[in-house]
Amino acid sequence: MNEVITQILREEERWGGRFLLLPHVESDVRDMESKERSLEEVRLSLSTCRRCVLGGSRKNIVFGEGSINAQVMFIGEAPGAVEDDTGRPFVGPAGKLLTDIIEKGMGLKRSDVYIANILKCRPPENRDPNPAEITECIGNLREQIGIIQPRVMVVLGKIAAQTLLDTDAPISGLRGRFQDYQGICVMPTYHPSYLLHNPAKKRDVWEDIKKVMQYLDLPLPK
Ligand code: SF4
Repeated sequence: MNEVITQILREEERWGGRFLLLPHVESDVRDMESKERSLEEVRLSLSTCRRCVLGGSRKNIVFGEGSINAQVMFIGEAPGAVEDDTGRPFVGPAGKLLTDIIEKGMGLKRSDVYIANILKCRPPENRDPNPAEITECIGNLREQIGIIQPRVMVVLGKIAAQTLLDTDAPISGLRGRFQDYQGICVMPTYHPSYLLHNPAKKRDVWEDIKKVMQYLDLPLPK
């Protein structure tokens, strides 16, 4: 229990004390423990999942990681090779870039946010997820979002943006404008792996991230 209270107070300090107040700590602790239990139930329900063909080729399920009270979620499309090896999201070269955006750009710790993907298992050769795989897996992400209830979701790349916003518009037309997912603000932007091959687009992503920071009242770098 003390560990949970410490985490709440740390989050309160991190987010400027705007969301949690000491008189509410007991109910916040109950809420947090309930959220942790719910998320763990979803994670455990996937441990033997074979609902799509990717269940037969994965090494590890990549469920997602981060703060249960995250104000912002980052959502990509699917695990790659390093993620499949480790069971953690965004830990390869694209993940390093995402971590830099969160820590050097936004001034947060990676552990302050929540990071997940549309698919929980790696598609072979890093091909795009196909519609059948998305249909089978998307319910898990929807449950994660419903439990964490972030204020903002930054959706990374075409697949994640088109899936969550239920559109076939290109990412170049979706990025940079806040949109809505069940009452939660969504900011689509380019996927970090795209930025590795197109570094000139980093400027666009930074503009999108600054809008998210303004929405969250995070200080912009001078
Ligand atoms: S990608 Fe999703 S639906 Fe397919 S096997 Fe993995 S967890 Fe199950």
